[in-house]
Amino acid sequence: MDNRYDIIIIGTGAGGGTLAYALKDSGLKVLILERGDNLPQEPENWSARATFTEKRYKAKEKWYDEQGKPFAPGVNYYVGGNTKVYGAVMFRLRKEDFKEIEHEGGRISPAWPISYDDLEPYYARAEELYLVHGKTGEDSTDPPRSSPFPFPAVSHEPTIETLSVSLKKQGLHPSHLPMAVDLREGGRCIRCKTCDGFPCKVHAKGDADVCCVQPALKSSNVTMMTNAYARRILTDESGSKAKAVEYERDGKIHTVGADTIVVSCGAVNSAALLLRSANGKHPEGLANQSGLVGRNYMMHINTGLVALRHKENTTIFQKTLTINDFYFGTRDFPYPMGNLQMLGKLQGPMMKDAKPFVPDIILNGVAKRSVDWFVMTEDLPHAENRVTLTKDGQIQVSWKPNNTVAHKKLIEEAKKMMRHAGYPIVVAQPMGGIETNSHQCGTICFGNDPDTSVLDQFCRSHTVKNLYVVDASFFPSSAAVNPALTIAAQALRVADHMLQKKSMPASDEVYV
Ligand SMILES: Cc1cc2nc3c(=O)[nH]c(=O)nc-3n(C[C@H](O)[C@H](O)[C@H](O)COP(=O)(O)OP(=O)(O)OC[C@H]3O[C@@H](n4cnc5c(N)ncnc54)[C@H](O)[C@@H]3O)c2cc1C
Ligand code: SF4
Repeated sequence: MDNRYDIIIIGTGAGGGTLAYALKDSGLKVLILERGDNLPQEPENWSARATFTEKRYKAKEKWYDEQGKPFAPGVNYYVGGNTKVYGAVMFRLRKEDFKEIEHEGGRISPAWPISYDDLEPYYARAEELYLVHGKTGEDSTDPPRSSPFPFPAVSHEPTIETLSVSLKKQGLHPSHLPMAVDLREGGRCIRCKTCDGFPCKVHAKGDADVCCVQPALKSSNVTMMTNAYARRILTDESGSKAKAVEYERDGKIHTVGADTIVVSCGAVNSAALLLRSANGKHPEGLANQSGLVGRNYMMHINTGLVALRHKENTTIFQKTLTINDFYFGTRDFPYPMGNLQMLGKLQGPMMKDAKPFVPDIILNGVAKRSVDWFVMTEDLPHAENRVTLTKDGQIQVSWKPNNTVAHKKLIEEAKKMMRHAGYPIVVAQPMGGIETNSHQCGTICFGNDPDTSVLDQFCRSHTVKNLYVVDASFFPSSAAVNPALTIAAQALRVADHMLQKKSMPASDEVYV
């Protein structure tokens, strides 16, 4: 392996993987460092017991809460990052999410430094890349599009179709959930029941590994090193330029240099890496002059909703329906509440964590009859919700949920809606503990003002000009839809920016 590259990308999730793809034909020499390995294609991929009960693919790692109590974070270290097990819902943020919005209690969701229109062309490209299937014209909160979805919506199975009709009769606007699964003509997806939270055994899920990293590695300019854990980023003596990454592999410490270094480790690990990289010129952590690295950590307020009736739910692939009628509030509650979307079809073992004392036979009976929803409300940024390091360098996360009044209202609306649809029993199960951090974001936010943000609008550090952070860290607000498409779209936008810089006449700024 060479010891000098044009670009090093650390991490291969929705951010890093997409960026590697976008740079593959640029002629730049790219090295990808990934702490995980390739996720094996094996029978356990689709076993609820192996994946949910035994947590086969979850990182064997402990983080610490504010009180120093250890917890097992919901993260997965593989090529493709968390997209290997994600639920494949690929929403665009709503146009309004890019602007300041007042929430219940006078709390503010801040504006982004870019508008929806800035990201729209990249949303379109990201949908194409990740094979997003969807339908326009059903959801009045959908932002305007320059082109239709690249692939038609995933159809409802009979139980969900009947539910959709019933919800329409209630005056709601059920719409097809935008899904990144390969149901194209001749595609590999078999519409199985083990998609949400499982790896795809046949590589039919639109994840960052299959859609981005594997194609990127076909380029002779892109090299990937797996099982390579980035410990620190080193700067030159002036502290104004990142010059190398110190990483650990097979128990040995190595360094590798590049003109540009991109951190894409996910919101918590990216913040931790910058904090670990503190040096004499950056005593509070690399690129942390604003003191904001690690702050404003967000992860959505989530609840699982199980609606039951006597008749069995025979649906196999349930993730086809979503409701955004409550997204911006109602006449009675004029504040944003969030999104409702179907969960992957629940199976008994998937409920075991939440209900450890309920016998399997009952859990399996419930799962046979239930229609299952994911209820999601925006988590608002708060400076004290943050990532820090313990004295011995371990990850510590301080997080208290906020926006809980809006979330309760949304749960009430969802329960009412399902009772009217003929499901007399509707049970809500909170999914919002500190360890349920699948939608983690914030921590290294982008903005125009170096005093109130860490990165500029192209995810480049305001102070270390050849350092980028391209993953969920840049979000100034979390909105209330799933984050991965926005992360991927911004990665494509950052790549365009880097390539434009490359084609410009040499300047005194040292970066791509
Ligand atoms: C169960 C589950 C379901 C989800 N469902 C959805 C969904 O339906 N829709 C949606 O939009 N989002 C979903 N998400 C969230 C989505 O997966 C994430 O938002 C997205 O993957 C984040 O991208 P990222 O680039 O920020 O980080 P990640 O995808 O987390 O990638 C970070 C990468 O960095 C690597 N890494 C970390 N630290 C280091 C280090 N020090 N050195 C080297 N490498 C490192 C990791 O191994 C990983 O590959 C889900 C997540 C989970 C866990
Ligand atoms: S539903 Fe399709 S994409 Fe999802 S795991 Fe099954 S085969 Fe893979």
